[in-house]
Amino acid sequence: MKKENKGFGRREFLIKSVGGATAAGLLGKSGLKLNAQETKNTQPLVRTLGRTGIKIPVVSMGVMNADNPALVKRSFEMGIRHFDTAWGYQKGRNEEMVGSVFKELKVRDQVVIATKVPPGRPELMDQMGDKLIEEEFLARLDQSLARLQTDHVDILYMHSISDAAMLKRPGLLSALDKAQKAKKVRFVGFSTHRNMAECIEAAVPSGRFDVILTAINYSMADDKALLEAMDKAADAGIGLVAMKTQCKQSWGREGGTDANLSKYDRSLVNSALLKWSLRLESVTTAIPGYTTFQQLETDWPVAFNLDYSPDEVKFLADRDVRLALGSVCRQCGGCLGTCPSGVDVPTLLRAHMYAADYNNFLQARQTLAEIQPQAGLKNCVDCRECKVVCVRGVKIARRLEELKTIFA
Ligand code: SF4
Ligand code: SF4
Repeated sequence: MKKENKGFGRREFLIKSVGGATAAGLLGKSGLKLNAQETKNTQPLVRTLGRTGIKIPVVSMGVMNADNPALVKRSFEMGIRHFDTAWGYQKGRNEEMVGSVFKELKVRDQVVIATKVPPGRPELMDQMGDKLIEEEFLARLDQSLARLQTDHVDILYMHSISDAAMLKRPGLLSALDKAQKAKKVRFVGFSTHRNMAECIEAAVPSGRFDVILTAINYSMADDKALLEAMDKAADAGIGLVAMKTQCKQSWGREGGTDANLSKYDRSLVNSALLKWSLRLESVTTAIPGYTTFQQLETDWPVAFNLDYSPDEVKFLADRDVRLALGSVCRQCGGCLGTCPSGVDVPTLLRAHMYAADYNNFLQARQTLAEIQPQAGLKNCVDCRECKVVCVRGVKIARRLEELKTIFA
């Protein structure tokens, strides 16, 4: 598979940027142009989504947190062509909004719609059996199509895969086959934000998945296993879509530094982080989850030029920023099983992110509801001191307390 994002010195830049290079060192090693104005393109950068052959701008829309149809409409008018939603977002209203906008605009044939259907709870799979797994998955897909007011989606993801064994589950694979044979789906894949490297690695030899939606951001720049898995997937022709690129977690207000990170304007932070993910050779496009016109105005111009501005270089090279980013939970699962009460800390932290950083309380509630009853928030008793420790320094106890306060 031909790589398109040439000229960015991928790995070299990643390592240098996290390892303490000065801004000058960064530029020297990566050969980047500093001034975005000097190289401003008049057209968005377009890349091909692996073997699907779909060509889309590098910036897409993650619709998840948006509830304003005018924002979706404006995104299309500005040039965004790939819209990512899910069966579960806003209890189906998110898909309904996407469907209504494109019906009204009469542009269904000009957009790439991706949705995600939950495959069911892994712990119930054996009990359910493959026939029921397949039926439930396909019934949800039909619901999604009805809400989206379309007879097919361009990309169907199995939602939130964290266990590679799920990628071999016969009931799910047969559901994907049937959906494709019935032309309800053009391309299939899965989304992953825990155990990403393992899931992506497992997908490559299977040859069954066209697209993977993975969490990837600057805080993961030293995650060699993930970056290598992404490279392998891209080399095998799997289209990679990046999510969670802008690190919307509490790192700016609770990181391991006393430095005042508020000196950085949020729009600069967003554009720098978005560019970082898009400069990875393996990534085709990213789906920032903007919710305002102002954020759209920040994110969309990134599609025209991935060169860093001097301030963005300064931000990415800032020692305090890198230290603070250590408190981004990467959902590595390293703290799983370490709570004496059996609490599923990584999933609680994801719920915290949705509530405290995305202001998406419905998504936070849904995430809490996904947790097995004996491992949920109610089981997080008031220990004098939380025993769960993150090797990266994520302030687990603080976030759990905040979560309890929000959902008290
Ligand atoms: S809190 Fe730390 S150890 Fe736990 S999942 Fe997040 S990054 Fe991994
Ligand atoms: S506060 Fe106690 S129950 Fe809650 S996660 Fe920490 S150790 Fe587990």
